Amino acid sequence: MRNFLDKIRKAHARFNTLLQENPQKALTRAYIAALGIIAALVVIGHLLAVYTINVQKENTAVTFTMTDLRSQADVIVSRASAYHASQNKLDLNMLGLSLDQMKKTSLGIKGRLNGNLSAIFEEPPFRLGKMMDNFTAAADKFADTMNPDLQAQAFADLSKSAKLLDLNIDLALEKYRAEVTQHIALASEFQYMSSILVLSALLTEALFIFRPMVRRMGGYHERLLRLALMDELTGLKNRRAFMQLAGAEMSEFSRHEKPFALVLADLDKFKSVNDTYGHKVGDLVLQHYATIVLESLRGYDIIGRVGGEEFAIFLPQTTAEQAQGIINRLRKSVMETPCPYVDKEGRNQFLRYTSSFGVVAVSAKGWTLDNLLIQADECLYQAKDAGRNCVILRKLEPPALKEAPAIHIAAVAVPET
Ligand code: GH3
Ligand code: MG
Ligand code: MG
Repeated sequence: MRNFLDKIRKAHARFNTLLQENPQKALTRAYIAALGIIAALVVIGHLLAVYTINVQKENTAVTFTMTDLRSQADVIVSRASAYHASQNKLDLNMLGLSLDQMKKTSLGIKGRLNGNLSAIFEEPPFRLGKMMDNFTAAADKFADTMNPDLQAQAFADLSKSAKLLDLNIDLALEKYRAEVTQHIALASEFQYMSSILVLSALLTEALFIFRPMVRRMGGYHERLLRLALMDELTGLKNRRAFMQLAGAEMSEFSRHEKPFALVLADLDKFKSVNDTYGHKVGDLVLQHYATIVLESLRGYDIIGRVGGEEFAIFLPQTTAEQAQGIINRLRKSVMETPCPYVDKEGRNQFLRYTSSFGVVAVSAKGWTLDNLLIQADECLYQAKDAGRNCVILRKLEPPALKEAPAIHIAAVAVPET
């Protein structure tokens, strides 16, 4: 028993390890094992049902055969009694017919003896076969006896033999039925137990296989969704997520003519950062930049990395003047916060870099996100053209009207204090 428990404990530990290393394989194995157990239990339940049916069938056949035998014996005795009283040839003929009938039945039974029937007919204590032969022999003897005194004796013997046969049939039936009832009760108990085991196996499977499986799948789904919408390097929203969220917000604000601003930001001369310090430092700068943007903006602003070193920002509930203040502060933060990195010699260094911004401020209906991005990109282009590290803001009227001229907020040559 202890050995068995040890084996189970080891198997459980192995399963847990596999669950950590390869959950798909572990859960598939557990699922197949549980299914195997359920299938085996269902087969056992089916076999028990078949067994119960067969026992019932045999019970019916045995009961029918023995009651038939007894009623034939009763008929023979009553015909013998009639003949004994009347000495009428007709009664004797009737007795002969019944006797032939019983001999045929007896031969038939002996020809298909099996299982319980064979035990009852051939083995002690009942030996019904022998008793049947004795009875038919006594009936034959009675039918052949013509002398009235000898006939009385033969009738008495026949009656005695019939009573013995009757009694033994009764006893055999009683014993046989008791056995059958016991077998059926046992089979029913097993069947009941196997049903409970099937239900328990299903419950265990639901709790320990399906539930973790569904939970894991939910986790994978969430992770996939997050990965599909997140930029891996910076942890910001990727282009798709930004377009979805900003698009939805923008149509809401635009519909109610509430002010908002859309910003495109691009790191200045970033190619030279990569070329000078290497791609790894370039990545660090991108992460550093993302952190500054996140920290400088409000929780409800939407920020996404929409290109290599290009970021987009949606500022809800923001007027042109507010957008100008917010983005210019961000520009200064970037300019004034160098990115820490470790150089090839292992020394801690700081890298200064700047960023340019194209901003469109809107408080009217009719704009689409794509249109606004084109406008913001034009502003960004102008900011680059103006020498970088600056913000170009354009206040937009409804698209039908001509847009206001761009305002140049800060150029690299004149950093604000
Ligand atoms: P400008 O001021 O006009 O924007 O110049 P720029 O050098 O920043 O612009 P350009 O388009 O010439 O170069 C962008 C560079 O950004 C080129 C590319 O190698 C780099 N880049 C894009 N994505 C990544 C990235 O994920 N990691 C790193 N390290 N570099 C990137
Ligand atoms: Mg750039
Ligand atoms: Mg660029």
